Amino acid sequence: MSDTEIQGLTFADLAREHGTPLFVYDGDVLESQYRRLREHLHPRLEIFFSLKANPNISLCALLHSLGARAEVCSLAELVTATRAGVAPGDIIFPGPGKSPAELTACLDTGVYAIICESFGELDLLDRIAGERGLIAPVALRVNPAFAVKGSGLTMGGKPRQFGIDEVQLDAAPDLVHRYRNLRFMGIHAYMGTRILDEGVIAENTRRILALAQRLSERLGFALEMVDIGGGLGVAYFDGERDLDPALLGEGLEPIIAEFTAAHPETRLVMELGRYLTALAGTYAVRVRYVKTSLGQQFAITDGGTHHHMAAVGIGSFVKRDFPLRVLAGGETGPVESWTVTGPLCTPNDTLAKHAALPPLRPGDLLGVTRSGAYGPTASPVLFLGHGGPAEVLVHHGRAYRIRERDTAEDLLRPQYLHDLTARAVPGPTSEGTEQ
Ligand SMILES: *Cc1c(COP(=O)(O)O)cnc(C)c1O
Repeated sequence: MSDTEIQGLTFADLAREHGTPLFVYDGDVLESQYRRLREHLHPRLEIFFSLKANPNISLCALLHSLGARAEVCSLAELVTATRAGVAPGDIIFPGPGKSPAELTACLDTGVYAIICESFGELDLLDRIAGERGLIAPVALRVNPAFAVKGSGLTMGGKPRQFGIDEVQLDAAPDLVHRYRNLRFMGIHAYMGTRILDEGVIAENTRRILALAQRLSERLGFALEMVDIGGGLGVAYFDGERDLDPALLGEGLEPIIAEFTAAHPETRLVMELGRYLTALAGTYAVRVRYVKTSLGQQFAITDGGTHHHMAAVGIGSFVKRDFPLRVLAGGETGPVESWTVTGPLCTPNDTLAKHAALPPLRPGDLLGVTRSGAYGPTASPVLFLGHGGPAEVLVHHGRAYRIRERDTAEDLLRPQYLHDLTARAVPGPTSEGTEQ
């Protein structure tokens, strides 16, 4: 892949045709990322796509065509996965705050597992299933007593709103007998996100499988499924290195082999968002203005925080620059230091603080690479009324528009304009009661 094109289509042409700011996904990268992992993982380990990372229905459908199943956490994600063609038997639904409507939809759709995260949720699900005359398949999300370091976000061993503490499950040996309408069938644990160490993933997996075995025996249900989480990272910043799928597969192999030998019927699930979609996406933005302020050069582009909060570093302790490059334009000349910002009226809206780029001019096209995960879906797209970006998927040399850019009308449609200047229409008695 050259720096300025995808599958023979130039970013310049794509930007001209679809406008900017624009998310462009390379279907070949999506496919090779999935296939390389698949070929190195133990065949019994199933890959579930976490729609949270990128809920676009076409990306979901493409991943599904490669073999991915779906992990969803909202009604909209559930509908997306089913419309993308994922069979209900290959959909799981975790989430700490599911609504009655979501639990009902899980039952009506017939998802493979409802991953329950509290005793209160078990009570509610039991009631809803009873009313509908159904038996709900339940996997318990556990907040493990242990933590393995090395993730961007450590989950185990801490007070969390996710899952049920391991010790509380230990203290409830009669749990499965309390509910007439639940069938306990699995254990789920998710240990964190942005993990870039193969050894940490293997160690997490070993401990989660042991935990699942122990808890299912203690609680007395057959282990139909264990979800070992995922949270595999990709390198964004200086000093980070991408995971090596071969090394990962090698580390997991004996652990999975031992478990499947003892549990030949148990489904093993790995749920991945970022790892599957991040590398395929480029956020293409166009330089609108260049200026200097107190000696610092600024390139002001049409994209930023509202589509890519992670790239501007909101939520991080230290702003570190996502990889950024010139997609079209850019004069030949010595590399300079540029601050690349967006159009929003907040100083946080900074894509890069000191990017080494050639001399820039208005009209040049820049790309934030590795941007296919947690972009618009995890950003304040309504901020300053800019709305969601257009998105394009390049597949087999053809560009497919997979999302329209929001218009001002789109943003105003759900709002009501009331005539607040008119006095309330006085009812026959209201004047009288006021006096
Ligand atoms: C966020 C989340 C994922 C996806 O995490 P990635 O780091 O994007 O792979 C999977 N499972 C659960 C329960 C999550 O909360």
